[in-house]
Amino acid sequence: MIEFQGVHKWFKKLHVLNNINLLVQPGEVVVVCGPSGSGKSTLIRTINQLEPIDEGKLIVDGMDLSDPKTDINKLRAEVGFVFQQFNLYPHLSVLSNITLAPIKIRQTPRKEAEEQAMALLERVGLAEKKKAYPSQLSGGQQQRVAIARSLAMKPKIMLFDEPTSALDPEMIGEVLAVMKDLAMEGMTMVVVTHEMGFAREVSDRVVFIDHGQILEEASPDEFFINPRQERTKQFLKQVL
Ligand code: ADP
Ligand code: MG
Repeated sequence: MIEFQGVHKWFKKLHVLNNINLLVQPGEVVVVCGPSGSGKSTLIRTINQLEPIDEGKLIVDGMDLSDPKTDINKLRAEVGFVFQQFNLYPHLSVLSNITLAPIKIRQTPRKEAEEQAMALLERVGLAEKKKAYPSQLSGGQQQRVAIARSLAMKPKIMLFDEPTSALDPEMIGEVLAVMKDLAMEGMTMVVVTHEMGFAREVSDRVVFIDHGQILEEASPDEFFINPRQERTKQFLKQVL
């Protein structure tokens, strides 16, 4: 579903992605972790071309992102992105936040878009908030709406960049629970997170990145019980 082959990226002199090779199979959940500034956000932002790559090959659902003929709008419709900051439209109700893109971009009839939005709100446990505005919701509720909004475009891949980092501790669990359900339903997911409990329980693979390089890639059991690299051990000491 996603294939990085020798991908490099620079910000001026900063070699932010250094020879990334990574394969994500359909239905796989891959957690990306690593120190602050190691290139995690840049890495997942390349997958929907929020950041272009400079060298190598990146193929997402059969689309070659280095090919100028690749349709970025099609790519973005297939790849949902959930950010640390929820980025809901503040002047729109919860329901309208979710129906906006399906109506405007997919030309879904309003009634159908609203029915789908209600089904998604049920799924994230927020059906009763359909008329609320984002400012009337807690951070955890806003993030669950943001996930529902992404799902409304029927993506094949969901990317999460530290989706719980801006939340109060008591709200982290409700967002992780929604993400876990999504994983169980077979969504292909790449998740940047420091929530090592989630990584252990939900992910198929953990990738540790430092200074723009993948230093370790392992099953969660291997990664947590028997990390091979010294830097991984140090990192785990800090986050566990
Ligand atoms: P992480 O998500 O792991 O904290 P990032 O991918 O955000 O790391 O950033 C990796 C490095 O690239 C950092 O040193 C950061 O300052 C730098 N960086 C990120 N975005 C830009 C940008 N748009 N321009 C220049 N440097 C950037
Ligand atoms: Mg980041």
